[in-house]
Amino acid sequence: MQRLVRACFLESSGYYFAKKAADVAREHGIDRVALLASNENPRPPSQNVIEAGCAALREANRYPDERASVFVEALRRYHGDYRFVTGAGMDGVIETLIRTVVEPGEAVVVSTPTFSFYGIAAMAHGARVVSVPRRREDFSVDPADFSRACKDAKLAFLCAPNNPTGNTTPLETVAEILEGLEGLLFLDNAYVEFSDMDYRPLMRRHENLVIGRTMSKIFALAGLRVGYAFVPGWLEPFYNRAATPFALNSVSAAAAAVALTEEERVRETREHVLRWRRRFIEEIPGAHPSDANFVMIDVAPRTADEAVEYLAARGVLVRSCTSFPGLGDHYIRVSIGDDLENALFLEAIRDL
Ligand SMILES: *Cc1c(COP(=O)(O)O)cnc(C)c1O
Repeated sequence: MQRLVRACFLESSGYYFAKKAADVAREHGIDRVALLASNENPRPPSQNVIEAGCAALREANRYPDERASVFVEALRRYHGDYRFVTGAGMDGVIETLIRTVVEPGEAVVVSTPTFSFYGIAAMAHGARVVSVPRRREDFSVDPADFSRACKDAKLAFLCAPNNPTGNTTPLETVAEILEGLEGLLFLDNAYVEFSDMDYRPLMRRHENLVIGRTMSKIFALAGLRVGYAFVPGWLEPFYNRAATPFALNSVSAAAAAVALTEEERVRETREHVLRWRRRFIEEIPGAHPSDANFVMIDVAPRTADEAVEYLAARGVLVRSCTSFPGLGDHYIRVSIGDDLENALFLEAIRDL
């Protein structure tokens, strides 16, 4: 029956999921595993967030509010007066945006190496994916290269700070790209709260910028699947026409609205990450500078797979970067975890 499956899914392997802690623990006979493979926040949600989610669950017999108003109002209080769209994770927002603007067969531009889902979602939609490699040693974006590739594209993706390389892109470079751009730029800001960059002012000057954000990283709600984007006003009604109805569920929306009010926790998370990130970069040979809650490390002459296996045997789960096209086979990506996890990792990598 496989002949029924579309060719693109027969050929590609799809999204790469990190190994589960329980499997690694079982394989190696260890009980505590440091989960440093998915850039999550190691700190569970607050009691208030949990209570808001539980309260919404009591009314789960009803469909959610179709525009997720509780969450959107919380976004306005947090960010000010912008236009927002929401989705089931930023992944859901990305998928809907592609559906809104790209016809099958049209080009979608991606600055690589980067987060794989842009390419997967574009391909699944029948679009043509055009990769623009970051050719510089520091993985910075060459705006001329990027702009040239965008010439005939409706939509382009730029991740800042970039996953997995960790570096962000200066505001001026993004502005330069936007100047000559006919299509839309989706700026993925999943990790922006760990950087010193704020791209929101660009929304005021550019009608073709969408900034994607997520509640999965600094806001610690990866399991609830909440994402959103700043959009230009003209786009909002069309996005909503293309969207899956009720994609953002009522429990997640209620919990996320409360998480947005917890400025103190966000500040603590940021400080924790910055402190450990500095240590990782100083103490680990091969660590690249990072503006995110993870660090990419060159483990040559070892291969990434050897390093991942070695660390897993010591109870530390990190991400091999071999699945990112163009990066080669000697990079790993490690998330900043809690104090114990980070200490365990530092000790293990020192012996590698
Ligand atoms: C984690 C991540 C997201 C996805 O976030 P969700 O809201 O959990 O779907 C998007 N972009 C990048 C670069 C990420 O690393």
